[in-house]
Amino acid sequence: MAELRFDGRVVIVTGAGAGLGRTYALEFASRGAKVVVNDLGGTRHGDGSSSNAADGVVDEIRQKGGIAVANYNSVLDGEKIIKTALDNFGRIDVVVCNAGILRDRSFPRISDQDWDLIHSVHLKGSFKPAQAAFPLMKKQSYGRIIVTSSNAGLYGNFGQANYSAAKLGLVGLAKTIAIEGAKYNIFCNAIVPTAASRLTEDILPPDVFKELKPEFIAPVVAYLCHESCQENGSIIEAGAGWAGKCAILRSNGALLRSSMTDNVNVEKVKDNWSQITDLSKARVLGSIQEATGVLMESIESLQNDA
Ligand code: NAD
Repeated sequence: MAELRFDGRVVIVTGAGAGLGRTYALEFASRGAKVVVNDLGGTRHGDGSSSNAADGVVDEIRQKGGIAVANYNSVLDGEKIIKTALDNFGRIDVVVCNAGILRDRSFPRISDQDWDLIHSVHLKGSFKPAQAAFPLMKKQSYGRIIVTSSNAGLYGNFGQANYSAAKLGLVGLAKTIAIEGAKYNIFCNAIVPTAASRLTEDILPPDVFKELKPEFIAPVVAYLCHESCQENGSIIEAGAGWAGKCAILRSNGALLRSSMTDNVNVEKVKDNWSQITDLSKARVLGSIQEATGVLMESIESLQNDA
């Protein structure tokens, strides 16, 4: 099989000074990409900053014969990260929004600061670099954007209400960028990783931790960012050497009124609850039009019966 290369491509990886981002940066560089290694270098709770993290990964890439440059801005300064790419390499083909922090607390104990910081770094910190890159990608009719979601976002997780909310928000962001970008050959997907890193070292049991190498996820992210990959607007989960696609399902539901003049009331909702929530024939809907289409069909069926 032909090697999938990124020669001539410029890739930005945010939060690439450690963990998953580091392995993404190394993977892209080993396949010929010029890489911007962004990292603020703070703690896992989002305090402080240091150039060491980004510099360390740039050194690693260069020692292996690759091309990389460091950027130490916060992801909130997305335009500055984009500028580093343009100043050094003249274009941008891929943005992997990966930087992240945790401020875990049980729901009643989440402070405004815990909420705002998590939303800033994860949500706005993906919005800013992706938005700054978008017009350049549009001009060249090519771009690949990855945002980083989490199973905590898809399913919830005790102590992570702030993080869960931001991480599911990123799914919405990816899906809308995917819709707006498609006609310009700009694709955007959400990765849902599970990997050993400083964010998970005290959460995952040690024997599981060592099997969850971030290096197992980097090839999945790299493939999603390759020009040959046509995936767009998807949620792709990866970890432990496994990868799969996640989706939001909708049940067939139930019509809660029997004629155009009939009303919906709480008792009818109760009577139909098992049908409303029956996922045995649930479907994945491809678009908002498909979702609202079912509502239109309900109206038409009532009109036809009238
Ligand atoms: P990590 O802490 O090893 O790496 C995150 C990096 O982001 C750090 O180097 C940190 O300095 C950097 N960073 C933090 N805030 C930044 C900012 N404002 N600007 C620039 N850089 C910043 O963690 P990781 O596990 O590799 O996590 C990477 C991403 O994957 C995060 O978005 C995380 O939420 C997500 N994620 C990880 C897991 C997992 O199992 N490790 C699971 C689900 C989601």
